[in-house]
Amino acid sequence: MIERSLAQPAPPTHSKAPSLCTGCGEPSGSISQGTGFPLVRDRKDGLMYHVRCLPGTRDLDAVWSGLERMKGA
Ligand SMILES: [Zn+2]
Repeated sequence: MIERSLAQPAPPTHSKAPSLCTGCGEPSGSISQGTGFPLVRDRKDGLMYHVRCLPGTRDLDAVWSGLERMKGA
């Protein structure tokens, strides 16, 4: 009979630190719970962002600046 020392049970990996938004540095939240916005993974750099903080939304900024230019014209 082989006596084996019991291996330490692996720590639960379920509890993970709250992920922070790469854009604004604030933690993810839940719209339904009123704690903010969830994070989404950007397909380009693989980092987590709020939807509004996604680098791709720069395109929206361009649209807005374009609108403001029209307004100022
Ligand atoms: Zn953010």
